[in-house]
Amino acid sequence: MPSRVSRRRLIFGAGSVAIGAGIASQLKVTQASGFLARPSGDYVDSHVHVWPKLTEKYPLDSKFTPADVDPEAFTPEEIIRLGQKEDVQRVVLIQMSFFGFDNSYMLDCISRWPKVFRGVAIIDHDAPEVAAKMIDLKRRGVRGFRLYANAKNVATWDSSPGIDAMFKTAAETQQAICMLSDPEVLPTIERMATKYPNTRIVIDHFSRIGMRGEVDQRDLERLCKLSRFDKLYVKTSAFYALGQKKEPYKDLLPMIKQLRDAFSANRLMWGSDCPYQVQGPHSYASSFALIATHADFLDENEKKAILGKTADKVFFQD
Ligand SMILES: [Zn+2]
Repeated sequence: MPSRVSRRRLIFGAGSVAIGAGIASQLKVTQASGFLARPSGDYVDSHVHVWPKLTEKYPLDSKFTPADVDPEAFTPEEIIRLGQKEDVQRVVLIQMSFFGFDNSYMLDCISRWPKVFRGVAIIDHDAPEVAAKMIDLKRRGVRGFRLYANAKNVATWDSSPGIDAMFKTAAETQQAICMLSDPEVLPTIERMATKYPNTRIVIDHFSRIGMRGEVDQRDLERLCKLSRFDKLYVKTSAFYALGQKKEPYKDLLPMIKQLRDAFSANRLMWGSDCPYQVQGPHSYASSFALIATHADFLDENEKKAILGKTADKVFFQD
């Protein structure tokens, strides 16, 4: 999530049935691996980006050059393998910014692993036929749309027919509007949630509170205030990029507890933000463990909600 360029992310979802059979059978994991012997956690990683090694089939958006692509690839197979170790069975893929409005690589991944992945796409809301595109993408496994909610972008939202169409259509199709937001735009999100009360809104990465180090308590209170909108969700994700940015990330626990108190676990969802969570000293296991192991103020049901049930409801149920 931190990057000098714009970041992109995906959401994924998978069929609600045959979860245990999802990743395991699709990868033909054998009993010998030990995977099938473990109880199914049915966990969901609500935030992962995938991309292939550069190929003509999936060209980069014109805003990017090959030097921007780092790591050089992060494949569906890699996130499936990482997830298996934690019983993460399904993943929400977030459209990678490298590809601009061309969601085809993500869609191809969903089509190949339909029980494992759902997607959050990026579309051009200023282009024609916004509603028709959203409906078509739903058929192809897209359950949300990403907006870069920074101060410059949100300044145009009130006068944008495309944004209006997105929020209205999303309410009808039960797709989520997923915001990569800065804390400064929380008042705008509050306004949008008021204007479109039937639209699911998902705020990524704690609205990036703590990205500059300290968690700003006023920002956090502003985020907690949004809990009065019952269709608004928060991703507790991208731990590597927030607060002290250091495993085991326990400095983020008070923020998570305050959000649980405001929203309840049923409106929080864990996400790794891979591949960024697995760069340098950071690991997938440590991200999962912050909720699964270290957040001792959560009971078992709350952990299950944050680690899977909430994202299942928002991204995998139709
Ligand atoms: Zn991301």
